[in-house]
Amino acid sequence: MTMRAIGIVGAGGRMGRMLVQAVQSARCCLVAASERPGSELIGQDAGEVAGVGRLGVAITGQTASLFAPDRVVIDFTRPEATLSHLEEAIAAGSPLVIGTTGFDAAGRAQIEAAAQKIPIVFAPNFSVGVNLMFRVAAEMARVLEESYDIEIIEAHHRHKVDAPSGTALGLGRAITEAIGRDLDEVAVYGREGVTGERERRTIGFATIRGGDIVGDHTVLFAGEGERLELTHRASSRMTFAKGAVRAAIWVSGRPPGLYSMGDVLGL
Ligand code: NAD
Repeated sequence: MTMRAIGIVGAGGRMGRMLVQAVQSARCCLVAASERPGSELIGQDAGEVAGVGRLGVAITGQTASLFAPDRVVIDFTRPEATLSHLEEAIAAGSPLVIGTTGFDAAGRAQIEAAAQKIPIVFAPNFSVGVNLMFRVAAEMARVLEESYDIEIIEAHHRHKVDAPSGTALGLGRAITEAIGRDLDEVAVYGREGVTGERERRTIGFATIRGGDIVGDHTVLFAGEGERLELTHRASSRMTFAKGAVRAAIWVSGRPPGLYSMGDVLGL
């Protein structure tokens, strides 16, 4: 059994193509790939679609057929697609790496329940830099929270379908956990009209969408007479793809559980 065998759901997507490239450069073995039923990419070679040359892996429209105990499956697609395949992954005992964002609370609960039966790495962002940023932002909030207002600003390309980004929400969660606030209570998603003065304990989220921005995140701590800004800018999706493949290698052979990228990186 080769534990570096990898299957990719959504192999024709922006991240899917990057993942195929990253699997190749990590010397893992792409053993299966899928696309949504009806996609024109079905039947094509996953390597050719990703621009790395023929790999002998035809893209299937049957994502369920990807799952097997001898491989890790990486899924960067859409919440409804990811959730619809959890049962098959459990039945096959296939570890999962989930990068899809935009789940609601019920969706997140379904992933947590699945992780009692199979190992799952679930992260809103697989870049090493962003995962370090979660840690640093939490530490800054611990020191500054009394007299600094906290705002989170994110920017992404025009094709992104969810807002604020999973990473922005992840930063919000890391910060609120560190300072004992409840994100659902304190989050303010966008402002318009006569909003009144800012309430002290709120955390504001601002979203920018445009062009081909891969992903920028800033946590702003604004006090009297000074402000601190912690910023991460991704310039290539390859950073997420490499992190996801690293997570896939790490998670194979682990016991069932819900793991974060922080666990993978030992942060
Ligand atoms: P995309 O639209 O380019 O790609 C998604 C692909 O999934 C499409 O090709 C689509 O056809 C395919 N798909 C949909 N349903 C499917 C199904 N049932 N079976 C197989 N394939 C299916 O989107 P993208 O930019 O690649 O982003 C995908 C997801 O990854 C989004 O949720 C995005 O927010 C997230 N993302 C996460 C990270 C991270 O580090 N966690 C980084 C970038 C993007």
